Amino acid sequence: MEVHNVEITTSAVKPSQYPQTDIPEIAFVGRSNVGKSSLTNSLINRRSFARTSSQPGKTQTLNFYKVEEQVFFVDVPGYGYAKVSKKMREEFGQMIETYLTERPQLKGVVSLVDARHEPSEEDIAMYNWLTYYNIPVLVVATKADKIARGKWNKAESVIKKALEFDRETSAFQMFSAVTKSGKDEVWAWIEERMAD
Ligand code: GDP
Repeated sequence: MEVHNVEITTSAVKPSQYPQTDIPEIAFVGRSNVGKSSLTNSLINRRSFARTSSQPGKTQTLNFYKVEEQVFFVDVPGYGYAKVSKKMREEFGQMIETYLTERPQLKGVVSLVDARHEPSEEDIAMYNWLTYYNIPVLVVATKADKIARGKWNKAESVIKKALEFDRETSAFQMFSAVTKSGKDEVWAWIEERMAD
C-alpha cells in the first residue's frame, strides 16, 4: 500500500474507547525493544510516528493508528517488563486479552520476535495463545540485518521449532527496518487479511 496519510486516532484501555468504525484492524505484539515501532514506522514510511520504546511503568494503552482510511494498526504495548507490579501485569494482560478475543474488526496479529535469538517464554506463550484462539498470525523476525543472509533459514527454523509453528493459522517473515527487507511481504500479508 502507498501510505500518505496516517492519523493516531485513539488510545484505549477498554472496549468503550475503541474506535467505532468497521475498518479492519491489524494488531502488533512483541516484547519491548523487539523493533515494533521500527516495523510500523517502516510500513507507513515514517521515521518516528509510532512511539519508540515506551517507558516501563507508564500507563499502557492500545494505540490505534488509522492508515489511509483503510486499516487501523493497533499497537499493543510491549510485554516483558520485569519491573511492573503483579497487579499492573494482570490489568495489562486483561486489556490485551479482551481486545484480541472480542474484537470482530481484528483481522490478524503481527507477532514480533528477534531474528537472532530463540523466542522467549513470553513470545512462545503469546504465540500459543493467539493460535489457540485461531487468530491469523504473521510471525515477523526482526533485525534480520544483524545476521548473515546465509543464516536466515537456520534462524527461521529455530524460531518455528520453539514456537511449534502452526502452518494453518500462521505465516513467517524475516524483516529488517534498516534494509527494509521483508516490508513488501508484510504489507502483502496485511492486505490479504484486510480483504478477508
Ligand atoms: P520497540 O520497543 O519494540 O518499539 O522497539 P524499537 O522499534 O524502538 O527498536 C528497539 C531498538 O532496536 C532500537 O534501537 C532500534 O533502532 C533497533 N532496531 C529495531 N529494528 C531494527 C532492525 O531491523 N535492525 C537493526 N539493526 N536494529 C533495529
